[in-house]
Amino acid sequence: MCATCGCQGDGGPVVTLPHEHQHPHSSHEHDHDHDHQHGPSGEVITLEQKVLAKNDLLAERNRGWLAGRAISAFNVMSSPGAGKTTLLVRTIGDLSGARPIAVIEGDQETTLDADRIEAAGSSVVQINTGSGCHLDADMVRRALEKLDPATGTLLFIENVGNLVCPALFDLGEEGKLVLISVTEGDDKPLKYPHMFAVADAVVVNKTDLLPYVDFDMKTFVRHAQSVNPEVRILPTSATTGDGMDDWYGWLAENRHIVR
Ligand code: MG
Ligand code: ZN
Repeated sequence: MCATCGCQGDGGPVVTLPHEHQHPHSSHEHDHDHDHQHGPSGEVITLEQKVLAKNDLLAERNRGWLAGRAISAFNVMSSPGAGKTTLLVRTIGDLSGARPIAVIEGDQETTLDADRIEAAGSSVVQINTGSGCHLDADMVRRALEKLDPATGTLLFIENVGNLVCPALFDLGEEGKLVLISVTEGDDKPLKYPHMFAVADAVVVNKTDLLPYVDFDMKTFVRHAQSVNPEVRILPTSATTGDGMDDWYGWLAENRHIVR
C-alpha cells in the first residue's frame, strides 16, 4: 500500500477550484512523515497502521461534518478511464434539478475533469495529488472547506483512478462505489479483491461496447460476489443512458441522511 509505494512522501496535495489552474507543485505543505523511507519492513507496517488510524479519525470527523449538513457523500473509485467523470456529468444533468449536487475531483494533475463537472452545472473543487495515488480524509476535509456545500447536497468524491490504495482510505463517505468498464475484463474482482470487497455497489459501465469486447457479465457477477457476496451490481452506459435509472434508484435507496 501507500506507505510502501511512496505516495505519502512528497508533500501535501494542492486543492483548487477549476478556474485557479494553479501549478500543482507551487504550494506544497511539507507535513509528511519521513519514517517510512527508512528502516526494516516491520517499521513500514507500523507506519501503515499509523497512517490509516490517523486517516480513520479524520474520516469520522468528515462524517460528522457532513451529517451536520445533511450531506450524502459517495466515494467513486475505478481505474483510469472507466468513465467516472462521464457517469457524474450525466448524473448531474439528470438529478441536479431535484437537489444541489457537488463534486470533489481527485487527479494527480490538471483540472480537466473539474472543468467538465463545472460545465455540467455542478459546484466542484479539484484536488491534485501530485505523485499521490489516492485521496485521504484530510484532503477531502480541505476540499470541503473550499467547496462549502449547501445543506442537503448530494456529494460525489471522484477518487484518483486506481484500483489499489483508494480502497484503504475512508474519506467519511456514506457509500463506496466502484466503477469498472467492460473493456477492462471480467476478471478484475479476482485481481483487485480489496477494492471490490469494500464496494457497496459496482457500476459496470460502457455496456454499449459489450458486443465488441470479451466480457461476460455472468462471469463478472460471479467473480464480484466471490469477494463481496452482498454487492449490488449496476450495468450502465453513461454514454447512451442505459441502466442509469437503476443507478439513480440505488443512490436514492442508499442516501441514509437525506430522503
Ligand atoms: Mg475522471
Ligand atoms: Zn496511494
